Amino acid sequence: MSDTRRHVPRTDAVLAHPQIAHAMCVLGRATVKATIASVQEQARAGRIAPDEVVSVVLASLPERATTLRPVVNATGVLVHTNLGRAPLSRAARDAIDVATGATDVEFDLGTGARARRGRGALAALAEAVPDAEAVHVVNNNAAALLLAATALARDADILLSRGEFVEIGDGFRIPELLAASGTRIREVGTTNRTSLDDYRAALDERTAFILKVHPSNFVVRGFTASVGVAELATLGVPVVVDIGSGLLRPHPLLPNEPDAASVLRAGATLVTASGDKLLGGPQCGLILGSAEVVERLRRHPVARALRVDKLTLAALEATLRGPAPPVAVALDTDESELRARAERLAKELASAGVEVQVVRCRSAIGGGGAPDVELPSWGVGVPAAWARELRTSSPPVVGRVRHGRCVLDLRTVAPDDDARLLAAVKAVHHRCGREPTWRS
Ligand SMILES: *Cc1c(COP(=O)(O)O)cnc(C)c1O
Repeated sequence: MSDTRRHVPRTDAVLAHPQIAHAMCVLGRATVKATIASVQEQARAGRIAPDEVVSVVLASLPERATTLRPVVNATGVLVHTNLGRAPLSRAARDAIDVATGATDVEFDLGTGARARRGRGALAALAEAVPDAEAVHVVNNNAAALLLAATALARDADILLSRGEFVEIGDGFRIPELLAASGTRIREVGTTNRTSLDDYRAALDERTAFILKVHPSNFVVRGFTASVGVAELATLGVPVVVDIGSGLLRPHPLLPNEPDAASVLRAGATLVTASGDKLLGGPQCGLILGSAEVVERLRRHPVARALRVDKLTLAALEATLRGPAPPVAVALDTDESELRARAERLAKELASAGVEVQVVRCRSAIGGGGAPDVELPSWGVGVPAAWARELRTSSPPVVGRVRHGRCVLDLRTVAPDDDARLLAAVKAVHHRCGREPTWRS
């Protein structure tokens, strides 16, 4: 054995170092031991000195016990599915923190007896949509649809317009999801036109309900016709409406997005929606509507397999009761404010010797919502070749590459994150800005 090899510190000696012992409390023994083993290997191979082992281990340890990392979303897509959809509000994050330990999610502290699970979140949702007689929350909108089909339409028919056979993403299709519950989908009308008479002709004693799915991620233009909820409600069978994005009330910038209150007022029996799209909350599925029907869903055995955890309930309640969540803020921010931020960033970068362009751009709603809406926005443009460097910096910054340029759209960047974005751009410029190959 060479001298170097003999001097490589043993695992228990490294573990005894106070900072490494602390890291073990945060990251767990297995992670820390695996890192130590790989660093010892480097020392044995002579790539580092034996007395560097502890410092290299400390530098190599991951920051957290999760491999997920916080990312700055500069894509201009407000609800970016690949980036986890809606970022939560400060209030929702705090609520999650409270709920992480033992909490009274299903317990009445006054009486010491069991209480309705998630009653605070359910009350907040009911208050936010007074038109709903009752509400329930499940894992996501897909779960809400599955529960409605299972509880109301097993061995029966659901009528669905051919224009509303929607694929929601990653190969998942709503009709196939519903069929998995043992229901039969009856196609009504055509891709571009469906009339009230088409629904009427398809109705029979096997019909459990009419489903209306908001075509949230595409637009059909031209010779088109569809039937509104108010008209469908005259046919005498329940009408279930999947509104998609989770708007609870109409939004002036999104005239074609249905909202829960209006759809219920128009006569829908049940409305389903996602919690983590335009509502700006945690992943969950909202179910709102008739007290009798919501209760049937809630009591169905499958409901238990779709129920949400305490963290979701906490975050949902805080989203509904707390200040506007980031998605709502991003949607409502005036472009002049974004322009001012872009100019300020460009000026600060210029004074650090980094030339970027202030660019006008267009943000999208995303998450399969409001496909026809673009919001005027502002950002900074950097060479396209920086995109990868920015994504792999710490924190990662994800922009959008277009026309040979990487645009960092500020509409989706929280103002609090401007400093992090600035630091990331400076660091990337420092690493590769001066190399001619990086110039676009
Ligand atoms: C997004 C969406 C869904 C799926 O919702 P999840 O919450 O992701 O399950 C279903 N229907 C419509 C219309 C949607 O827009």
